[in-house]
Amino acid sequence: MQPIGFNIISRPIKNCSNKCEKVSGDLLNGEDRNLKNIVCRRCGSLFFAADAVIAVEDVQRELKLMTHQGAGQVGKEKISWWWFTDDDLDFDTIGFQTVDGVKVLMCGDCEFGPIGLREANGKFFFVAVERCAYN
Ligand SMILES: [Zn+2]
Repeated sequence: MQPIGFNIISRPIKNCSNKCEKVSGDLLNGEDRNLKNIVCRRCGSLFFAADAVIAVEDVQRELKLMTHQGAGQVGKEKISWWWFTDDDLDFDTIGFQTVDGVKVLMCGDCEFGPIGLREANGKFFFVAVERCAYN
């Protein structure tokens, strides 16, 4: 994909999908944690290094479609497959924002999102598996 700009640390910003997309390849290691680095699909910023978080399924939530800074009138989609942690130190780079009254997680570099949610007074963090890229 062609870069459409650069973020604050001069990483190319790509034109990318704003909703869940099928992820190919193995995602989990032998201990059911993330096998690969989990990164922003728009700018490549690192959210979680490998082996940082667990995957959870069947947690049903609605999340607004992704835009820069979560702005604009866009739709929502239902998501049930997440990376989960209760420790904000597990993140490498992340941004916190409230979008339409919902506490969400954004890319800390290019501010694209929401990629996930904060719940339980900000102590539980859910990142949508199919809104990230992997390397
Ligand atoms: Zn980004």
